[in-house]
Amino acid sequence: MGLTAADSTHKDMITFVIPVFNEEAVIPQLVERLDALFERVDADVDVVFVNDGSHDGSAELIENYAFNRPYRLVNLSRNFGHQIAITAGVAEAQGDAIIIMDADLQDPPEVAIDMIEAWRNGYDVVSAKRARRQNERLFKRWTASVYYRLLAKMTPIDIPQDVGDFRLIDRKVADALNAMPEQDRYFRGMVSWVGFRQTQVTFERQGRAAGESKYPLGAMIRLAANGILGFSDLPLRIALWFGMMIAMASFAAGIFVFVGWLFGGDTVPGWVSSMLLLSFLSGVQLLTLGVVGLYVGRIYNEAKGRPLYLIDQMQDRHIEANLTEDKQAGQRRQ
Ligand code: UDP
Ligand code: MG
Repeated sequence: MGLTAADSTHKDMITFVIPVFNEEAVIPQLVERLDALFERVDADVDVVFVNDGSHDGSAELIENYAFNRPYRLVNLSRNFGHQIAITAGVAEAQGDAIIIMDADLQDPPEVAIDMIEAWRNGYDVVSAKRARRQNERLFKRWTASVYYRLLAKMTPIDIPQDVGDFRLIDRKVADALNAMPEQDRYFRGMVSWVGFRQTQVTFERQGRAAGESKYPLGAMIRLAANGILGFSDLPLRIALWFGMMIAMASFAAGIFVFVGWLFGGDTVPGWVSSMLLLSFLSGVQLLTLGVVGLYVGRIYNEAKGRPLYLIDQMQDRHIEANLTEDKQAGQRRQ
């Protein structure tokens, strides 16, 4: 079987979406693994690389490899972050099924074989579940585990544990995701939200093949917050309950003081306790305001209604060349 879309017109078309941010160290290995994989996949394949504002030679490298491979390169105008890069890739992907995976080979491309099989058995979403987190620091493993369990408790939809963004989605799921306009994108949550027939395949998450993580702690925390804020209003409700409980407690305390006064008790001492209460309540108020602020900030972000990303330029010379030969390809173009 070939690597091109031209040699067969009736086959399924599978598009791989791969976000790339300064991955020049790993791209040669990635290309090698993809070549080997595509020999084994019984479908037409292409790859949408989303260059998320890399400032190394990633884009040129991909361009070079693209001359005899079914690669397209979408250059974003700057670094928009992993989740937006995925969003852009899925929007550009033309396949009947789309497989999203990281560039760094932590998501072994070979898992695609299992995903495609599950897809052919009728599943619309096939998520890759991590059986073991190899070569990841204990801190990351532990925080991830706590976070996913917390998220599961807080959100009404079922966001599976130990599942990242490595998955296959059917065309109709991609269309649904493309139609979701939210600015703060927590992709795995959105995939859970859309429904359809979902299943999982397990794999062992590898260490990075080369280069370093492009996810600093700050970005990790933002992603985690997006998961909770985007899919749960529990923090708001907790703030409400907390406020109500404290109001009731103050009311009871008021009655207590009033009764004490009626029976002639001395009410002037107690400066310490009132100061404590005052500062405690101020703290609670600021905290509550902060929680509300998180949601208001998101509303502000949505209200601006900016495009999710900007494309600098697209490169799909190879596919362009095939188009002239491939009668069917026309319908794959938007
Ligand atoms: N990535 C991206 N934009 C970013 C950060 C990362 O497109 O701003 C890509 C990166 O090139 C990789 C994937 O997202 O393909 C996952 O990033 P990374 O491996 O650094 O994250 P980690 O596996 O350490 O969580
Ligand atoms: Mg990685």
